Amino acid sequence: MIRIEEIVEKVSRNHPQADLDLLRRAYFFSAREHKGQTRASGEPYLVHPLEVANILADMRLDEISVATGLLHDVVEDTLVEPEAIRELFGGEIAHLVDGLTKIAQISNQSREEQQAENVRKMLLAMVDDVRVVLVKLADRLHNMRTLGFLKPEKRRRIAQETLDIFAPIAHRLGMGRMRGELEDLAFQNLHPEEYRELAEQLEKRRGEHKAFLREVTSRIEEKMREAEVPIIRIEGRVKRLFSIWKKLKRQKIELDQVYDLIAARVVTPDEVRYCYAALGVVHNLWQPVPGRFKDWIATPRENLYQSLHTSVIGSMGQSFELQIRTEEMHRIAEEGVAAHWKYKEGRRGSHDDDEAFQWLRSLVEWSQEVKDSRDFLESLKLDLYPKDVYAFTPMGKVIQLPRGASPIDFAYMIHTEVGNTCSGARINSRMVPLRSTIQNGDVVEILTSPNAHPSRDWLNFVTTSRAKNRVRHWVSEQQRIESIELGRKLFEKESPRFNLPAKKLLADADGELKRIANEYGYGRVDDLLAAIGYGKIMPRNVIAKYLGPEKFAELEQKKESRLRSSVNAGVQAVRKLIRLGEDSIVVRGVDDLLVVRARCCNPVRGEEIIGYITRGKGVAVHARRCTNVQQLMINPERVVEVEWASSVDEAASYAVKLLAITENRTGMIADVTNAIKDIKTNIRASTAAVSEDDRGRIEVTVEVFDLKHLDKVMSSIRKVPGVLDVERLHGVA
Ligand code: MN
Repeated sequence: MIRIEEIVEKVSRNHPQADLDLLRRAYFFSAREHKGQTRASGEPYLVHPLEVANILADMRLDEISVATGLLHDVVEDTLVEPEAIRELFGGEIAHLVDGLTKIAQISNQSREEQQAENVRKMLLAMVDDVRVVLVKLADRLHNMRTLGFLKPEKRRRIAQETLDIFAPIAHRLGMGRMRGELEDLAFQNLHPEEYRELAEQLEKRRGEHKAFLREVTSRIEEKMREAEVPIIRIEGRVKRLFSIWKKLKRQKIELDQVYDLIAARVVTPDEVRYCYAALGVVHNLWQPVPGRFKDWIATPRENLYQSLHTSVIGSMGQSFELQIRTEEMHRIAEEGVAAHWKYKEGRRGSHDDDEAFQWLRSLVEWSQEVKDSRDFLESLKLDLYPKDVYAFTPMGKVIQLPRGASPIDFAYMIHTEVGNTCSGARINSRMVPLRSTIQNGDVVEILTSPNAHPSRDWLNFVTTSRAKNRVRHWVSEQQRIESIELGRKLFEKESPRFNLPAKKLLADADGELKRIANEYGYGRVDDLLAAIGYGKIMPRNVIAKYLGPEKFAELEQKKESRLRSSVNAGVQAVRKLIRLGEDSIVVRGVDDLLVVRARCCNPVRGEEIIGYITRGKGVAVHARRCTNVQQLMINPERVVEVEWASSVDEAASYAVKLLAITENRTGMIADVTNAIKDIKTNIRASTAAVSEDDRGRIEVTVEVFDLKHLDKVMSSIRKVPGVLDVERLHGVA
């Protein structure tokens, strides 16, 4: 067991002014409180807080952090009250221990919700005081080192969580060494067989690797001496097991095919010019591999990582990676925030001047917006994993994006408003579709228009959580506005049948409708209307509440008798039932959020249509010919009048699938498609087959503007010699 005096010694070396007595008092307190407790390994529990404190001392953290390490489990695992910590060790330590206790507390939610909740707490705690997370990471690291004593299932769960949450957080805080160890330990526990195998394979090559690195090192040293470039040391290493394993998995290759298994690192004195000088020497000595040079000094990563990376082809024709950085950059690469975090009086949280914490703040911001825990964890993973694409604004500002990011993601990185009004994009001066993928080094220009707005479709391709959440937010806002509007219309339409003054009722925000809204548990009339628009509440139920049961039943009966005669008479009668008034709902060319064309019959403009209020998806528009329409008449109160908008602002087209039955001859398909193209009609897809009775079956999906256009297409196909029949296939085109 490590002794407290060793830890005290380390802290005093890094912080000569530190209150060392505080550490000793924290130690004795922790020892007394954890007395009699043991770990899964059988050791006394005290080993754990001591080891955690030692990790923190090695990170050169202050005595407050180290003391917190000693005390981190006492409130959680013993009878000690938070007040006692405050009295004995002061407010700062009490605050940190409190943050850690909160993260540790397990509620009886589902595992996913629990994890999401913990991460949220951790993010909040981090912004409040980053030391909470540093202690938490040290805690997790020691638990990972001693994971072997737990049952396999628990071991896997903790390892997975480490890989999903803790290692990425360490990475985002720039703590390379912590991340590396957490990842390797997680890998070992999640895939023990593969870990062992890989470790064995590497062990076999150890001699070979060592010799190679010795050779590389001496060559570099010699050349640097000749060129008079000062360097502090050269480190050679084999890459970490987890990162090798990931590479093998991702590229589906064998260990022999990994060309950058070995990496060397040149550490220079703390002046940037030595790095570039060293790079020159190295590139002079060996041929660089094109496209592998990266300057993370000129453009530091978001987590403040700086270094020059290059790959060169060695004397034996084997390529290897080289990193060049100053001693200070090296420290930051290994220790991250822990290295550059300064504790000054009254300065504990993150501040505006700390670039490393900008991502953290935005993370916290949306962590509070996102309600669904699955969504939250998913976007968290997206946000925590390395971002590899660097793009530029036309003004030369660097925007960091995850791989696969689109111009929409880029737009939202600049500003929410830019995203919300994005109408197009240029990449390297060329117009591109919004769903394009941004590549490293692209110059991206976002075009905006005051009339442009986000589209639900964007959710299918944006990759950043920021863009996802902003678009979702916009869509749900829009959906609410539309559902209120729809609810209002539906209510207005139903009212005359019961002789209700709808307009007057709706105009009074604090009147009868408000009372009814409250009865349903809604605060405002708008909420009630939104519920009607969503199909959650039928307007007639609201009217029933307004009129009272007796009056409503009386009027309902009159209406009912009219209805009953029509229900069974089918579609013809429905026509009579629905009088097309000026208050019908207008269907525009493209689907709205709350007025969508039914997928079963896929009506096109010009066809006779009726609307049906669905539950939660607004009004579904069916063609009257649709076989489902009769079925829908079982709930006649859900049927509403709809009509196509008289003017169409854009050339909206509808995809319709057609089936042509033809003779089986060569050139048939070409003739059919040409007949369609002849009348300037787009073909979206086509397939052809020969049926058992030796007929050709050609299916084409065409884009038409309206029913007339469709008729034209169909008759054009019919005229092709050899075509026996053409029919429209219903359902999704
Ligand atoms: Mn612990």
